[in-house]
Amino acid sequence: MVSQTSLLSGLSTRWFNSRLLLAVATVVSSVFWCAQVYAQKGISRLDPVIERKVDSLLAIMTVEEKIGQLHQESGGWDSTTQSLGATETERLRKGLIGSFLNVIGAERTRKIQRIAVEQTRLHIPLIFGEDVIHGYRTIFPIPLGEAASWDPALVERDNRIAAIEASTEGVNWTFAPMVDIARDPRWGRIAEGSGEDTYLGSVMAAAKVKGFQMSDFSDSTTIVACAKHYAAYGGAEGGRDYNTVDISERTLRDVYLPPFHAAVNAGAGTLMSSFNEISGVPSTANRHLLTTILRGEWHFNGFVVSDWGAVGELRNHGIAGDSAQAALRAINAGVDMDMVSGVYLHTLPIAVRNSKIRMSVLNEAVRRILRVKFAVGLFKNPYRNCREGTERAVILTPEHRAAARTSAANSMVLLKNQNGLLPLSRDVSSIALIGPLAESKDATLGPWHTMGEGADAVSILEGLRSSVPPQTRLTYKKGCNLTFSDTSGFSEAVQAASSSDVVILVAGETEDMSGEASSRSDLGLPGVQLELVRRISATGKPVVLVLMNGRPLCIPWEAEHIQAILETWFSGVEAGNAVADVIFGKVNPGGKLPATFPRSVGQVPIYYDHKNTGRPIDENERFTSRYFDLPNTPLFPFGFGLSYTSFNYGNLRVLTASAKIGQPVNLSVDVRNTGSRKGDEVVQVYIRQRYAAITRPVMELKAFRRITFEPGEVKRVEFALDSRQLGYTGDDMKYTVEPGVFEVLVGGSSDATIAGRFELVKE
Ligand code: BGC
Repeated sequence: MVSQTSLLSGLSTRWFNSRLLLAVATVVSSVFWCAQVYAQKGISRLDPVIERKVDSLLAIMTVEEKIGQLHQESGGWDSTTQSLGATETERLRKGLIGSFLNVIGAERTRKIQRIAVEQTRLHIPLIFGEDVIHGYRTIFPIPLGEAASWDPALVERDNRIAAIEASTEGVNWTFAPMVDIARDPRWGRIAEGSGEDTYLGSVMAAAKVKGFQMSDFSDSTTIVACAKHYAAYGGAEGGRDYNTVDISERTLRDVYLPPFHAAVNAGAGTLMSSFNEISGVPSTANRHLLTTILRGEWHFNGFVVSDWGAVGELRNHGIAGDSAQAALRAINAGVDMDMVSGVYLHTLPIAVRNSKIRMSVLNEAVRRILRVKFAVGLFKNPYRNCREGTERAVILTPEHRAAARTSAANSMVLLKNQNGLLPLSRDVSSIALIGPLAESKDATLGPWHTMGEGADAVSILEGLRSSVPPQTRLTYKKGCNLTFSDTSGFSEAVQAASSSDVVILVAGETEDMSGEASSRSDLGLPGVQLELVRRISATGKPVVLVLMNGRPLCIPWEAEHIQAILETWFSGVEAGNAVADVIFGKVNPGGKLPATFPRSVGQVPIYYDHKNTGRPIDENERFTSRYFDLPNTPLFPFGFGLSYTSFNYGNLRVLTASAKIGQPVNLSVDVRNTGSRKGDEVVQVYIRQRYAAITRPVMELKAFRRITFEPGEVKRVEFALDSRQLGYTGDDMKYTVEPGVFEVLVGGSSDATIAGRFELVKE
């Protein structure tokens, strides 16, 4: 097991007090950062002017027009006539459509919008949605990779760029950020979110909302964010997509909901309900989630859209006998817009006629949608995001590509680097590049790449070709296909490896093995890739394994036998250049894992902030919580990642030994770059309440900061933890901060060993 502990073990607090110049980096806890920097206008606070406008409209809308606002259609473009299909046009003219998704391009969007604003009775504009998940045309790392950067400013910038590109092509609204916590890597949608941790996920959620929406919608490059999938979608049994979720109310509130709350606090205009049920109630019909918590406790003023077809699927869930019942369950629970199932459109008019639905419920759903349309400025300028002719100047620009290259490199995580194999010396005379993914341009983009095109992408082969020194011979052999069992390409790959100084072996998953409906029961390298890795390793040549994948993998053999392993996720349009930057040391990797890598799929779900149990593992005691055949520890822990340099931590000072609840807890730690290269370290602060009325996790991340260090540089990193954020859901299901003793652990991963303590006392 590769561990950061070894880096920390030689720690001596004495040198920290040496004559070295102590740079001071003040780091305010990201808890404050979320709450204050991202306090938004518009959706978060009701604007009386907008409310009056909505009232006036509601007063003159027919029931059908109201229900039309709640209906979302997909595409509908007829490429023969170059116009909207006849059925959709007819429907739209009658005011029976409130929104479209999957309409591509400024010109088409304008044409359709024109029908809404010029040919309908009330001229209400449409809102156009699209899945802009990790870039629009300039594709950035998949969200799991973005989270591995632990750099919210970078993530905000990437999503700003995504919004700039998308908003040029008519998009008003993105179905992002995806903020589902995922503790089960079998679930393919772990790729679309920020991983397993609630705090990291909350910080990333806020950063993405800010990137899409900025502080309000006055800038026409903003698009409305949609935090999805509300809620606990990642808790699917067996990691199988869409599957049942059965979790406690406390786990729901403490683990799965905070990133949604952070997105709402950051001003997200919309939320999407999830496909799954939670303990017997599908989210699409879950009043507790959609009304009691979202509107009642969090005061969310935006609107909720269902996931694709999910209102109709309430019949399959078995809580509605027909579409009419499904529609009533969804709208009464708080789903305002029906994504494509058509169930609202077709059944609600009858429900109104038969007095099956209260007008106030219908009006409220319409109000929320109109409010967002007004807040975004669609009534003022329905074409605000249609900038035909400017696309080329805005999309996939050299600046955007440069940003994608930086983000890709910053998201990479160095998992192993025996004997400093990486970075490769520029004197290397021959390199064998092996593996089916090395030449794939499509794979670099990963799942949900919106308008991203493989042709735009730099494959690893291309990236290395343009970076290797002129005197270096680079030989590429595929070795095998990714999913087939054919091994006939092995021998030429082995031959290439044997006749080279070093091997770069690119292995992993295809881009569609993660994302929606892409669960896996096996977390190893698919196909015959492991066999290929073994054969190449047997040549005795030093091997760098470059991983491309959308989830944590189980790679115990590789971790033991391969000298260097670089996790690159699906890192986007500049993947190949970024991999080359890291491999040749132009960039020193500083990413950290946002999700635990298990030793075996049998350990799943595995996550660092687990509970202790009454019988925590004791190697010498049989009757403790453990496996017969495996250690409890993961292969690579949450927060882990190496660098080409090394860092030491020391002199942890808890400056507030005792704080009243409500007061900040100040602490500082000295971190030193002990190597000879400049590098980034993610300083992580974990806490643990020793005992409380309800069992607490063994540790929980509460603050972090990615910082660059010059060789030999020491920085005193200061944190101010918000003590109000150290609580949990109590017996009465209310959030509570309980006085008591807390341990603090600080380090460069969840293996953090530098410890201190403080006490929280009553206000
Ligand atoms: C996915 C959503 C997505 C929607 C629209 C659904 O299948 O679950 O995440 O936003 O489709 O494309």
